[in-house]
Amino acid sequence: ALILGIESSCDETAAALVTSDGRVLAHRLAGQEEAHRPFGGVVPELAARAHVEMAVPLVEGALADAGVTLADVDAIAATAGPGLIGGVMVGLMTGKALAHAANKPLIAVNHLEGHALSPRLADPNLAFPYLLLLVSGGHCQLLLVRGVGDYRRLATTIDDAAGEAFDKTAKLLGLGFPGGPAVERAAREGDPKAVPLPRPLVGSGEPHFSFAGLKSAVLRARDAGVHRSEDIAASFQQAVVDCLTDRTRIAIEAVEDDVTALVVAGGVAANQAIRTALAGLAERTGLAFAAPPLWLCTDNGAMIAWAGAERFAAGLIDDMEVPARARWPLDPGAEKARGAGV
Ligand code: ATP
Ligand code: MG
Ligand code: FE
Repeated sequence: ALILGIESSCDETAAALVTSDGRVLAHRLAGQEEAHRPFGGVVPELAARAHVEMAVPLVEGALADAGVTLADVDAIAATAGPGLIGGVMVGLMTGKALAHAANKPLIAVNHLEGHALSPRLADPNLAFPYLLLLVSGGHCQLLLVRGVGDYRRLATTIDDAAGEAFDKTAKLLGLGFPGGPAVERAAREGDPKAVPLPRPLVGSGEPHFSFAGLKSAVLRARDAGVHRSEDIAASFQQAVVDCLTDRTRIAIEAVEDDVTALVVAGGVAANQAIRTALAGLAERTGLAFAAPPLWLCTDNGAMIAWAGAERFAAGLIDDMEVPARARWPLDPGAEKARGAGV
C-alpha cells in the first residue's frame, strides 16, 4: 500500500509518501527556525500560520517527487496530536480534506507513535516487543512497545523533557535556537569533566527522569563566570548521557526477559553522544541496538506515513469526526495511574 503522511504538531510542516514495505518515495519538510528564532522558542500562533501556508504545497511537492497522484495513494495519515493544537488542527484538517476529496481512508496518527515506530521504517527486521527510549522536545519516556497501538509506559520525566533541557541550556549559554544541535556542536569543543553537574535521580530504583535541577545547575555554572560555555555544554551533555543510560539500565532489568532490542527515537536521538552511550549499554546487556537515521529522529512526514502504513495494515482506520488533541498519551493507563503530568 502507498500512504501519504502529514506532520504539523510543532514547528516542522512535512509530507511524505511511504510504502507498506518501507520504501520512502518522497519526503518534504519545511522548518520554521527563521520565524521563531527572534523569540528563542516556538511561538504557537506563528507556527499555525506557517503550517497553513506550507501544508498543501508540501503535499503537492511530495506527490510530484514520487511521480504519483492522490488517486494512487491508498490512505492518508495525518498527525492528530499531541502537540500545539493550532498546528495539529491544520495538518489534520488538511488530511481530512484530501481524504474526503479523493475518497481515501483517513488515519489519525499519534505523533509519539510516529516516533515510536520510526525505527521499524529504518530497520524492517526490528520486531516487537522492544524497549524504547523516546527522547524528544516534549517527552522523555521509557516504553515497552508490544505492537502497533500497544504501549506500556515504564517511566517518564517528573519535570522537563530531555529536548527541553537541551533547548533551555542552549538559551542559557547563548548558543542559539534550535538548541539541541547547538549544544552538541559546542560540546564537541569542550571538556565533559570541566564542570561538576548533578545527575538527578541516578541510582533510584524507578527508572524515571528529571532534568529541572540540571538546568538550574547550568544556570549557576554560567553565572559563576569561570567556565567556557563549551565546557558547560560538554558537561551538561555528559550529565544527560549519564542520566539516560542509568535510567534505561534500570528499565532493561525490568523487561530483559521480554525484549531483544533497545531502541532510541525522537529528536534527541539525533545526538551522537547519546546514540553511542546507548549502543554501549545495549552491548553490555546483550541487546540489539536500533536508532533511526538522523533525519528520521527529528520531526518528519515519513514517520507519520509509516505509522499510518502500520495502522492501515492492522485495519485501523479513523472516521472524519476524529478530533485534534493537544494531549494524547501512548499509554493512557499509566497517565491515569500516576496523575496528570507524570
Ligand atoms: P514531541 O515529539 O515530544 O512532541 P517535538 O516534536 O517538538 O516534541 P522532536 O522534533 O521530536 O520534538 O525533537 C526536537 C527536540 O530534539 C528539540 O528539543 C531539539 O533541541 C532536540 N534535538 C534535536 N537534535 C538534537 C541533537 N543533536 N542533540 C540533542 N538534542 C537534539
Ligand atoms: Mg522542531
Ligand atoms: Fe516530535
